[in-house]
Amino acid sequence: MPIAVADEFVAVAETLMVEAAPALVAHRNDSYPHEAVGIVCSDGSTYPLINQARSGHRFEVSEVLVQEAITILSERGLQPVAVYHSHPESVSGPSNRDISMMQHMPGALSIIVGKDGIAAWLWNDGLQSVGKVQLPERVEAV
Ligand SMILES: [Zn+2]
Repeated sequence: MPIAVADEFVAVAETLMVEAAPALVAHRNDSYPHEAVGIVCSDGSTYPLINQARSGHRFEVSEVLVQEAITILSERGLQPVAVYHSHPESVSGPSNRDISMMQHMPGALSIIVGKDGIAAWLWNDGLQSVGKVQLPERVEAV
């Protein structure tokens, strides 16, 4: 059985998503029709990565690029807390591919920018929702 996600954790994740929303939506729009992918830091800032799969249905980032990003963020004193990606043509729920990826990183926060909003997920003996925020019109229009 999955362990219940604490309400406080959901509140923190939702605050993070609200802070990151303008950057997440801008990156989603810039990457369209491909999926955008990147890192969200604990201060709500984002670090865009390159989707090397160049696909609207999946993302891929080499280990080298991920390590490089982590080094740069740590030099800036930033703490990576989640990987985000966009679903250009679908909602913010994880795909089967996303779920199998999360199963390999239990406890890691995954943020999905979908057409219906931004949602956070993690795998902990089962798929767990860690909050969701709607996209305000103002942000949607970026
Ligand atoms: Zn996905």
